[in-house]
Order: sequence, then C-alpha cells, then structure tokens
Amino acid sequence: MAKKQFKAESKRLLDLMINSIYTHKEIFLRELISNASDAIDKLYYKSLTEDISGLSREQFSIRIDIDEENRTLKITDNGIGMTKDELEKNLGTIAKSGSLAFKSENEDEKMEDIDIIGQFGVGFYSAFMVSDKVTVLSKAYGEETAYEWQSSGADGYTITESEKEGNGTEITLYIKEDTDEENYSEYLQQFRLRMLIKRYSDYIRYPIQMMVEKSRPASGEENEYETYSELETLNSMVPMWKKNKNELTEEDYNHFYKEKFFDYADPAKVIHTDVEGVVSYTSLMFIPGQRPYNYYSKDYEKGLQLYSSGVLIMDKCADLLPDYFSFVRGLVDSQDLSLNISREMLQHDRQLKAIAKRIEKKIKGELEAMLKTDREKYLEFYKNFGIQLKYGMYDNYGANKDVLKDLVMFHSSSEKALTTFAEYVSRMKEEQNYIYYATGSGTEAIDKLPQTELLKDKGFEILYLTDEIDEFALQVLHEYEGKEFKSVSAEDLGIEETEEEKAAAEKQAEDSKELLEYMKEVLGDKVTEVRLSQRLKSHPVCLTAKGGLSIEMEKVLNQMPMDEKIQAERVLEINAKHDILEALTKAFALEDERATVDKYTNLLYNQALLIEGLPVDDPVAFSNAICDLMVK
Ligand code: ADP
Repeated sequence: MAKKQFKAESKRLLDLMINSIYTHKEIFLRELISNASDAIDKLYYKSLTEDISGLSREQFSIRIDIDEENRTLKITDNGIGMTKDELEKNLGTIAKSGSLAFKSENEDEKMEDIDIIGQFGVGFYSAFMVSDKVTVLSKAYGEETAYEWQSSGADGYTITESEKEGNGTEITLYIKEDTDEENYSEYLQQFRLRMLIKRYSDYIRYPIQMMVEKSRPASGEENEYETYSELETLNSMVPMWKKNKNELTEEDYNHFYKEKFFDYADPAKVIHTDVEGVVSYTSLMFIPGQRPYNYYSKDYEKGLQLYSSGVLIMDKCADLLPDYFSFVRGLVDSQDLSLNISREMLQHDRQLKAIAKRIEKKIKGELEAMLKTDREKYLEFYKNFGIQLKYGMYDNYGANKDVLKDLVMFHSSSEKALTTFAEYVSRMKEEQNYIYYATGSGTEAIDKLPQTELLKDKGFEILYLTDEIDEFALQVLHEYEGKEFKSVSAEDLGIEETEEEKAAAEKQAEDSKELLEYMKEVLGDKVTEVRLSQRLKSHPVCLTAKGGLSIEMEKVLNQMPMDEKIQAERVLEINAKHDILEALTKAFALEDERATVDKYTNLLYNQALLIEGLPVDDPVAFSNAICDLMVK
C-alpha cells in the first residue's frame, strides 16, 4: 500500500516533534487524553441533540494500557471515532488553530526553536516525541468499517481497512528506546502514567482507567499476599473548584491547597469565585499562610494555573497576576479559552486580560476585607508579603499606587503598631497639614531621632519607615487624600507659627548669620548649608537634606553597584534653643578662638552623622578631639 505524504506544514511540525529536544515530552499524554475526551464529548453531544437512545454518560471512558514487553502504550476511547476521510483530513494535516499559529512562524526561523511546542496545544503529533511509530485504529459512530492509520514519522502514513469492535479510537504508541539523555521507558510505567494523569488530566470529566496491579492477603493463608489486577479510575473527574461551595469545608480547601501547591501550612485565605459574563470562569486562589522560602529570590515564579474546561493548559500563567500580588497561588478555569493557544498569543488574549483585571480586583477586595474584619490575620499576612505591596506602589512610576495605597501599613509613633494611611489621616490634628514620616533602620532608632522631637511635642503622629523601599514608595504616592507626605527632616516642616515666633526665629538667624557661614566654610563640601533649627528641642544638632534625595535614600542607592557615589545635599542644623549655640557664638566673637570654633563644628558634624547612622569621616580624629575637650 502506497504511503501518502503529509501536507507540507504538517510535515514540518512532525519533524519538529520527532527531533524535539523539548523537555516536557510528557505532555503528549495530556494531548491524547484531551483528544479522547473531546471525541467522547462530541458523541455525547450528538446523543443529546439527535436523541439517540442507548448511549448514557456512564458508559464513556478512556482506557490506558501498557505493554512493557512490546514497548507499547495504548490510549483508547469510545467516543465518536473517525471515518477514513476524517483520519486522512485530521491526521494528515494539522487542524485549525494549531496550524494557524504554526503558519505564522517565519519560514526562515530555525527549526530548533522548539519552544513553540510547549506553548500551544500541539495535539496529536506530540505522540511522535516519544514514539517511533503510531497507529490509530478508529471506527466512527454508526459506521460498519474501521480503519487504521499508521505512521513512523516524516516519511508519510498509510490508511488501511481494519477491524474494531464498537465505535471509538485506539491509539497505539510504539515507545522509543531509551537514549543517554532520555528515559522513554518511564512512559511504560504505571506509577509514572498515574502521576502524569493526576497532574495534567485529573479533571477530565470521563474516567481514565488503567489495569493496576494490587496486592491483597491471600485467602486462607496467613501473612501471604497475592497480586491481582483491577481496573482503576485514575482521575477525580470533578474538579474541586467546580464543586458547589456549600459542599466544601475549610478542611477540603486546606487539603487541596497543601497537596497541590506543596505547602505544609494552611492558606491564610481562600478565594473561590464563579464569574459569569462576557468571559466566564471559575477561580480558586489562596493567599499562603507563610512566605515561600524563595519568595524574595529570582527563583520564585509567579502565576496561576490555567485550565480550559478542566484541562490544564499552563502551569504558571504569569499574565494572570500582577507582580504585587505574585504571592497568590491558585488556578483559573475558563471554557472561553482555547486549548490551542500559545504563550505569545495568550499575552494578547482579550479574554485573559479581562480575567486578570477581575482577579486583581478580587484579591484587592479580599485583602481589604481581611484588614477590616480580621486585623490580626492581616498583620500576619502583611509580615509575609507587605514589602511586595510597597514595591508594587513604587514600580512603574506608581502606575498601581491607587490599587495598593489602602493595603500598605507603616509603624506609627503614637500607636506603636502598624497603621494605614486612612487611619493616620483620621487621627490627624486640626492644625496638622501633612502626613509626617521619619526613616531609619528600625523603629527604636527612629524614635530617638532628634528631628522627631518638635513634631512629637506638638502631638503630631509620625510614620516610621524602616524598609528601604518605603521612602521611594511614598515619594511616588506623593499624597493621600490630599495630604502630602513630609519628612521630619524636610527644610520646612509646614508647622504654623505665630508672628512673634517667626520674627524671633528670623532675628536669631540674622544674628548668627556670620557664624553659620563660617561653619559652612569649615565643613567645605561635606554640607550644603549650616543653619539654625527650630525643630530640635533637647538635641544640639541634626543632619537633614535639601531637595528630593534624602539621606536615607542616599544610603539605599549607594548600596547598589554604581561607579559614582550619590550624595544628598546635607544640611547641618544647630538647635537654636540649645546652649551649644551660645558656646559657639562666644567662641566666634573672640578672634583668637577660631580654632575652637573649627573643632566644635567638626565635632557637631560628626555627632550628627552618628545620629543618622552614618560613619564618621575620621573616627580617630573624632575620638582625639573628644579627649582634647576632656583634658582641657
Ligand atoms: P486538535 O485537537 O488541536 O484539533 P490534533 O492534532 O490533536 O489537533 O487532532 C486533530 C484532529 O483529529 C482533532 O481535531 C480531531 O478531529 C481528530 N482526533 C484526534 N484524536 C481523536 C480521537 N481520539 N477521536 C476522534 N477524533 C480525534
């Protein structure tokens, strides 16, 4: 019997499959089982629409048979089957969507670009990734004759008349011999197939059955076991997420989560939704109860599993989750998505985008609800993933700040606990115009910062920013409910002063003008300015920064590998009400005491550095200068 040639494009895909270096060869099983399930769907549908009696849902099944000796794996269904013409048409050419995607591939592009294989449903041809030869014995429903399609790959295929009982299709794969790189024999092992079916096809709605060897106590004999074979259904058929919510207990969800996502802790939150509309889908998502060990490393991969009518099409669909919710685990199942869809195509898929948008909203809503109704739980969640939310606020120039601004929290000076912006604003004093914040390595260190004294004195709350990202995130956010953020180190704290206070401060500044200019000269490039400060109470000095770059930001940025170090415009502030100003003024008044003023200036500057958590320029000189003061 003459061999027929494959249509050109089918041949190319076939070549690709045969020579595949693709690592996920195992998906062939998913593809063949999905085809079998589709074929049953078609017949079932026909029986419903054409009112065919004698067909009931229960009798449908997909059967897997292993013959280890002959190295064959058989996948059998009792679905609609194929006529001779259909065998020719369906298996001699690549069908529909698959071919479309393939066509759009550039002719000249290297055939090694295997990645496309895993990206769209590759269908029937994927069988050739693991087989030397494939036969398809099929009898269409209502037909008398069966036909067998046979091919060993690129050189073509034959179709011959054959015999088969009942309708349906029986696909036999002649599994390749093992090579150094590839262990094909695993596709002849029960446990491996069982695992693959669990993994990829668990929710196929028809039973996938296999003869499984089991052992039981031999009758009559004690401590003796005999092996026997039994037909076992390997898939659970009804996806958990398709079950009625009322039927599911918390334990069901927790168990499912832990098993599916390999976690040993219960999830902090389960989000199970059914959405009907322009795009219909079911989603089952979990917020982990603990942080995955690799969460903040580049190994962590975000994404939700994507199912199309119960068939897994992608394990980690990144497009379904924004980065700031990357901690969410779970899945989406939609009947509106095509199985044959490549990753590139998915990115532009309108349905998928619509789903992603709704999912984002849903997660946000659930977190907000958690914050409102179960604060303790939220705090636990925030401990695990809060930083991610803050990064999200900062990312993309703040494109998503509005999604996140009500979810982030910072330590509060007055509450001594984490608080939200909304809560802060609700506590603001009438005469308070800004949301104040202070930065530092920890809340205790910040609490002692001289810059916070005046504000605390006035009873103004201060947010303590302890993570590197915090100040950057706040800068991007700029304001909350019309209240701007202001650093406690800002040049102008925006505190309302009386006319007298203002006049007194101006006069004092005027009187000290020469002294301050002299001190600036002594410090040279180290500071941009030396000025008097009204914000300090008991502390003699502090260091602040002018312009957008704060000292804390300078520290963060300088940790990154860069050629040039960045420096904030440092300002040394001298407490206008402190005795130290008097001492400086006295020394400055005496011409021959300039050396003392120099020494004091350097000492004060170094003190300010230490308070800010910055290294002093010359620790030895600094400690000698202090000793000098003692022995004077
Ligand atoms: P796809 O499933 O993406 O259309 P395939 O290459 O997997 O592409 O299959 C091509 C066609 O062959 C299917 O559309 C279907 O019509 C037919 N087919 C494949 N497997 C079976 C089967 N087990 N029973 C009946 N028809 C099948």
